[in-house]
Amino acid sequence: MQYDAIIIGGGASGLIAACALARGGRRVALLERQDRVGRKLLSTGNGRCNLTNLNAGAGDYHGARQAAQAALRAWPPRKVMGFFEALGIPCVADEAGRVYPMSRQAASVLDALRLGCDEAGVETRTGFPVASLRQTGGGFEAVSEGGDRAFGRCALICTGGLAAPKLGARGDGYRLLERLGHRITPRFPAIAALITPPEAVRGLKGIRAEAEIALLSGNEILRRERGEILFADSGVSGIAAMQLARRANETRMAGEPCAVRLNFAPDMDGAALLRRRAENLPLRSLDDFLNGIVPRRLGQTLVRAAGLPLNMKAGTLTARQLEALAGRLAGWTLPVTGVQGFDQAQVTAGGASLKDFDVRTMASLRAPGLFAAGEVLDVDGDCGGFNLQWAASSALLAAQGMEALLGNEDIERPENSTVCCF
Ligand SMILES: Cc1cc2nc3c(=O)[nH]c(=O)nc-3n(C[C@H](O)[C@H](O)[C@H](O)COP(=O)(O)OP(=O)(O)OC[C@H]3O[C@@H](n4cnc5c(N)ncnc54)[C@H](O)[C@@H]3O)c2cc1C
Repeated sequence: MQYDAIIIGGGASGLIAACALARGGRRVALLERQDRVGRKLLSTGNGRCNLTNLNAGAGDYHGARQAAQAALRAWPPRKVMGFFEALGIPCVADEAGRVYPMSRQAASVLDALRLGCDEAGVETRTGFPVASLRQTGGGFEAVSEGGDRAFGRCALICTGGLAAPKLGARGDGYRLLERLGHRITPRFPAIAALITPPEAVRGLKGIRAEAEIALLSGNEILRRERGEILFADSGVSGIAAMQLARRANETRMAGEPCAVRLNFAPDMDGAALLRRRAENLPLRSLDDFLNGIVPRRLGQTLVRAAGLPLNMKAGTLTARQLEALAGRLAGWTLPVTGVQGFDQAQVTAGGASLKDFDVRTMASLRAPGLFAAGEVLDVDGDCGGFNLQWAASSALLAAQGMEALLGNEDIERPENSTVCCF
């Protein structure tokens, strides 16, 4: 079967590109390895799908930032929202600019993309794990692991990254691109939980707290975030902590140790707060002393970290002991001994180098007629809708790039050409 375009990977980018290109009248095949498209999309934003972010800017991206900037210029968040709205997904934004479908359901986004593809005539071929992609005279031939074939005048690779293999990530796209002469930058997990010594967080699993969390290398603050953190068996999770993972990984890969400092009383004088509290509640044992400022069990951990006995009464604390406790409340420092791997990560840092692509069209500079979009490329965004914004904007750029290429070919190709005319 011959198509104008074969799109490899039916995730966010693949579905968006397929829909956009087919709506322009092109004959498109969407080749998906799994038995259904868009599995990862269903898990995004805790099932609510944080589609984009109204405040997205180049600073929210890492890796080939200039590519993210070019994609944002061509397809800014409002234009991406317009694309979804045209598919029947009205979008709403929260106070932080995070954009969701009005239904707050990732499933409705996936349904709209699937229906959009069907209505535009995209041929979706699931259970088609592309094992090789070969450049032929008139385009590209994809061959599946089982020997099925699909031929397209141009091809788009959007097979995603390595994060969340349970949802289908396998890294096949890197191999396909490498074989066609593309460079792949080192990949590591971004947006993942931080690992700390387990004894430091023992007993805190499942506890959530609002905090400012800073990533430190020595005394230098590498990055600071604020929001909810969630303690896990082996460290600290939650969006604020996970945002630090990329930088923590980079620092550790450079051989530098790093740590996180947690402040559970930002914007206030923690020592003054505890002094007043000790005066008001002199009979309260330290067991319960911080309860209400932070969850009780976390309070007990901070008391222990300050070297104080839990059965001591607040009224007997010396000024120095109060200072020590305030120091833990506003600056509990834990060494970061690692970052969770791809199994637990949301996004891949690194990927196919944008040096091998024209960032205006996502066209390969190494294999004419080949395009790439989404997480397979060396661009990753922070948490907050930035990764789906990149998936969408790079996919829409690629769809435009493919359309331009096909349009030119249509004009240039002689009428009796034997190479797949539609
Ligand atoms: C739990 C979780 C929550 C997230 N929440 C958000 C969020 O709310 N907002 C946000 O912006 N980002 C979020 N992300 C990140 C976002 O989902 C990804 O960055 C985005 O899905 C990347 O899109 P993609 O199309 O490049 O890759 P994917 O969506 O991963 O799609 C790649 C597709 O290619 C297929 N494929 C792979 N190899 C082959 C092959 N050889 N042949 C055929 N098909 C193949 C895969 O099966 C898959 O369907 C989240 C990620 C996770 C894991």
